[in-house]
Amino acid sequence: MAPGFYSSETPSLMPLAAVGSVIPRADTYDYIVVGGGSAGSIIASRLSENSSVSVLVIEGGPSHEGEVDLTIPYVYPRTFRSRFDWNYTTVPQPNLGNRPGIYLRGHVLGGSSSINGMTLNRAPASDWDKIASYTGDRSFRWDAILPYIKKNEGFNRPPNTPEYANTYDPGVHGFNADKIGNTLVTDGNWISQPSLQAATEVGINYVRDVNGGLPVGISWQQFSTKDGSRSSAATAYLNAGILSSRSNLKVLLNTFVTRLLPVSGTDLKFTTVEYKDASGNTVTVSARREVILSAGVMSTPIILMRSGLGPRAHLQANNITTILDIPAVGQNLQDRCGAAAVWSVNATDTDDDIDRNPAVFNRWLNQWNQNHTGRLTQMSYRQMIFGRVPNNASIFSGGFQDPSSGPTCPHYELYPANKWTSPTTPQPATGNFVSMNIFVSASNVRGTVTLDPTNPLTGNPVIDPKYLSSEWDRYVMRDAIRTSARYFNAPAWKKWNATPVFDTAILNSDSALDTWISSSAFGGVHGIGTARMGPANSPAGQDVVAPNFKVKGVSGLRIADTSVFPFVINGHTMGAVYAIAEKVSDLIKSGN
Ligand SMILES: Cc1cc2nc3c(=O)[nH]c(=O)nc-3n(C[C@H](O)[C@H](O)[C@H](O)COP(=O)(O)OP(=O)(O)OC[C@H]3O[C@@H](n4cnc5c(N)ncnc54)[C@H](O)[C@@H]3O)c2cc1C
Repeated sequence: MAPGFYSSETPSLMPLAAVGSVIPRADTYDYIVVGGGSAGSIIASRLSENSSVSVLVIEGGPSHEGEVDLTIPYVYPRTFRSRFDWNYTTVPQPNLGNRPGIYLRGHVLGGSSSINGMTLNRAPASDWDKIASYTGDRSFRWDAILPYIKKNEGFNRPPNTPEYANTYDPGVHGFNADKIGNTLVTDGNWISQPSLQAATEVGINYVRDVNGGLPVGISWQQFSTKDGSRSSAATAYLNAGILSSRSNLKVLLNTFVTRLLPVSGTDLKFTTVEYKDASGNTVTVSARREVILSAGVMSTPIILMRSGLGPRAHLQANNITTILDIPAVGQNLQDRCGAAAVWSVNATDTDDDIDRNPAVFNRWLNQWNQNHTGRLTQMSYRQMIFGRVPNNASIFSGGFQDPSSGPTCPHYELYPANKWTSPTTPQPATGNFVSMNIFVSASNVRGTVTLDPTNPLTGNPVIDPKYLSSEWDRYVMRDAIRTSARYFNAPAWKKWNATPVFDTAILNSDSALDTWISSSAFGGVHGIGTARMGPANSPAGQDVVAPNFKVKGVSGLRIADTSVFPFVINGHTMGAVYAIAEKVSDLIKSGN
């Protein structure tokens, strides 16, 4: 185990009580961060920059250090359903052919940033402006958030060659080499030329930088990698070097937090954390100042509910005493539903053989092992397209209001991949393919996360994202699929003989498309909203946290992770949660 880490077997200073009893730890900390994930790692690291402040992180999973599957970017899907994943499943989804979906969540230091696909977005400017408008707090506006985004980022400039001219805007990036790497794809792969040309041919505009706040159009992908390896909240903020140099920062690994407890005799001051140690003992530890709950969009609402903070009727049904009735806990789950459509091509330099031929994979692995270069340093995507349903689309007739954050906000996302990516149909044994990964982003569906009635205290969350349950979401999905088909039908792809491997007749009928979608779509793992932020003065229980991230109606407790976003993020969520982690750290440090 790396210096600075310790596991839950570390003896507490109190004599051990019998298994099953509650053991209060004698040591206390100024701050306790529950969940050492994407947000939690940053917050713990920032707070402990002040050596007179003590910080404890309690993380359910193991360390990320030395784990090759968490390090080599291309192999990230190996972490799915592994010990680095919480192994959650959604309830059967009626619009996905009643299939339950896997719901991936990082179970490791760094959380989901240690297992995710590394696409680094930070949401369009209009999303941040909408959050500012909803909360009544102008410090969430895009121009006020940008400094936090830059603070967190170590942008790697691409080579200074004509090919990469105009592929990014240095004005919107941070260049802090010790923070989270952000690398533009620069491998000169064949797919970039037709990808960019086809966009021009079908009228998709070129965007210089996907992270400049106006992402609608086609742009170059940016990935959270550094020197050919994953860069995560853990590698940048809770690495062994930082942990060994800070005696005021402790990380308790492999430790499951069950709930939070109010300090008796106080006005709902929730500064005690209860967890299970490795022997099954129930242990409590207290913060002198605050607990920061950063257990993510699924666990944060579940920990709140177990603590008696949630919708009264649901808590009652699970035999949990309600301490504060907060109807919004576990509600407002928003996510992006995805699908992948595939075309065969006559190009031979696709990534298909890396996935099906161990000899080809091992060649690239040897190269990565030698100098961290080559195909395994990134994923199979080079460009990404953010699109909108046309203003004159039939869905908008009859007064339907666009649920997105405005005319510069995407409704959907497409990214062409240099291989077969459909997770619902197996990759053929031969052939070369390109795929379009398609995600509805500006969803108006809201799902739920609730307690497992058979095991409310330690069971997995019951997750119901209600994918594609609105006509709007289904309309956007169909529109995005038809746009993808027009794109691969553009002249630029003729040279590569791009040929759909699905029956294009489905494109002519909404019901046929819906049938295809129901058997092909999958969940997007970009959930938000289950402990949402609202205005400081919103009616009790409508929102969970105030704009300063404090849980309304109690003291000593903040929430900082993707659960607080009040609206779906129209892009990938990691960059957005990094920004709020920096923001909440500053708020706490400045005593706000
Ligand atoms: C497979 C996958 C691919 C993705 N791809 C991308 C992508 O390419 N780009 C992008 O921007 N976003 C991506 N995302 C989404 C993004 O990674 C997440 O939205 C974001 O990282 C979530 O951050 P968080 O801080 O809210 O939660 P997390 O990072 O999940 O952190 C929560 C932490 O709390 C810990 N925890 C939970 N419950 C307990 C408990 N009871 N006790 C103790 N500890 C607990 C967890 O182990 C975890 O470390 C992806 C996600 C996944 C899973």
